[in-house]
Amino acid sequence: MIIVETISGGVNCTTEEYEGDVDTYRGDIQCIKCKKKAWFVRSYKTEKIDRMACFGAKHKDGCNASTILFSSDDEQSHEENAQSEDIRVDLDKIGSQSIYISEPNNKHGDEESDWTASKKDKAIGNASGFPLNKSLRQLLTNLCKNPEYGDKGQTINIVADSGVSMIKGLLSDHIVPLNNIKREHAGSRKIFWGTINNLNLKDGSLWLNYGNYNTEPSIILDQELRFDLLRNFKLKDVSELDGSDVIIVGNVGFSPRGKATIKTGFTKYMSFRRRKRED
Ligand SMILES: [Zn+2]
Repeated sequence: MIIVETISGGVNCTTEEYEGDVDTYRGDIQCIKCKKKAWFVRSYKTEKIDRMACFGAKHKDGCNASTILFSSDDEQSHEENAQSEDIRVDLDKIGSQSIYISEPNNKHGDEESDWTASKKDKAIGNASGFPLNKSLRQLLTNLCKNPEYGDKGQTINIVADSGVSMIKGLLSDHIVPLNNIKREHAGSRKIFWGTINNLNLKDGSLWLNYGNYNTEPSIILDQELRFDLLRNFKLKDVSELDGSDVIIVGNVGFSPRGKATIKTGFTKYMSFRRRKRED
């Protein structure tokens, strides 16, 4: 997709126009046909590949504006037959390698070779239960494939380094989609998840935005967490997260104007399901 439209005014926007005025268009673009939120994908060039810039979106089924395939970096999943087994997410066991592995024999240091090999999306099987000791990443994958995933009566227990439970109880009581954050979610720790459609830097902090960053929810990482993010998730640039799905264990607060902002203490309380362009 190389043309999108603004959500605010329905005005067409090309990739060139977007790059020329990112601040105006950020968080305000959608697919012209199916009206799903879109994100910008930079052009890149390597010895072998020359790709022009484009826009990505999670198009509605059947939308023919989708011209470029994106796939998620899901790991080969471990099918389990435990439909309602309890989840124990042990944060100490979540390494960055569970999210993203860079190619070990990267000869050129180019952007392209940083992506993991494309893996086939796993079909949603009747046996995609959730066993013990799986990471937040796997929870995110399940939620992305089935937003009602958490409604099967599972329980969750997220244990911090100290052995103290950070979140314990029914999964459905603790997961909150980014597009469904409400005032009553403030004041207690929750597991937020959804798509990051754009990012921006503000006073050294990184904002991961669901949409319009003035009105719609954002995850805010201060400078220190931002550097941790780049290091721990092996990112060259935060823009690699455009279009990713995110899951984060944290707290939400509201600005006087009612905008929700989510914060957390460590990057280990976050995970991403990245979107890569299929070549
Ligand atoms: Zn579309």
